[in-house]
Amino acid sequence: MDLGAIVSETYAELADERGSGTPARYIPALALVDPNKFGIALATADGEVFCAGDADEAFSIQSISKVYALALALEREGPALWDAVGREPSGNAFNSIVQLEREKGIPRNPFINSGAIVTTDRFIGDSTPEEAVQDLLTRLRRMGRDESITFDEEVARSESETGSRNRSLAYFLEDFGRLRNPVEDVLSVYFRQCALRLSCRQLAEASLFLAFDGTDPVTGQQMCSASRARRINALMLMCGHYDNSGQFAFEVGFCGKSGVGGGILASVPGRAAIAVWSPGLGRSGTSVLGAKALSRIGLRTGWSVFSGK
Ligand code: GLN
Repeated sequence: MDLGAIVSETYAELADERGSGTPARYIPALALVDPNKFGIALATADGEVFCAGDADEAFSIQSISKVYALALALEREGPALWDAVGREPSGNAFNSIVQLEREKGIPRNPFINSGAIVTTDRFIGDSTPEEAVQDLLTRLRRMGRDESITFDEEVARSESETGSRNRSLAYFLEDFGRLRNPVEDVLSVYFRQCALRLSCRQLAEASLFLAFDGTDPVTGQQMCSASRARRINALMLMCGHYDNSGQFAFEVGFCGKSGVGGGILASVPGRAAIAVWSPGLGRSGTSVLGAKALSRIGLRTGWSVFSGK
């Protein structure tokens, strides 16, 4: 199969639809990004990365970072993490607060904002916020094989300044006694984690471990155990797009995690890690063109987590 041609053809077929959807504006710094950006990168086990469009331009990965935060929180906390955060689809928006009161401060899953705030708190553990951010950066640089990977301070500041909803979620969690670190420390790491900047190529390379049982098949680095990688994939499939997760599984059939910066990271176990970026979002904050591109790649390759072929 000519994966390079599949990526280029998918890009060419959809390039006229650049600008589809509506970029997130509730984080003011994100509203400044050119809505016509569109990139695709597909990384495979033999070290090849097939790219098209703006695949080498770094963008704000936002909630895609929750996947790495979860891996690190699990590494630090082990299965005890699941006492603090659930594993069920929420059926609600990413920043919803409604279930938190009913479920006594235990978020439904680690990918909605409340759940991610808990996983961030746990991966901070006993370290300082600065150390935790450095830890995350070091891991991502190693996995993405690029020392220049960093976060965008302007985006982090912009989100913090307008972050009343996330502050509400975090203080609500604190009131239930669910956070171990001071609320503002947790939020300062959460906002910086969301403001990480990676290109599609870096994201795809840094995420091969998800598709290959926890170990990067190119460098041999282990990020997590095989069973943990499978479980992260399961959560991506069920909860990676909030109340649009069912639709994404139905249309695309890959494990995926969206971010309001317009990126989507997809893991196709045994096959590839794929990252796409187009800032215009649809329902529930999933990139419209990004989801379309992944669906076309699924059709062209015949790949699907629901297929035995
Ligand atoms: N930083 C964003 C927020 O907390 C992340 C949301 C997202 O990408 N879905 O609102």
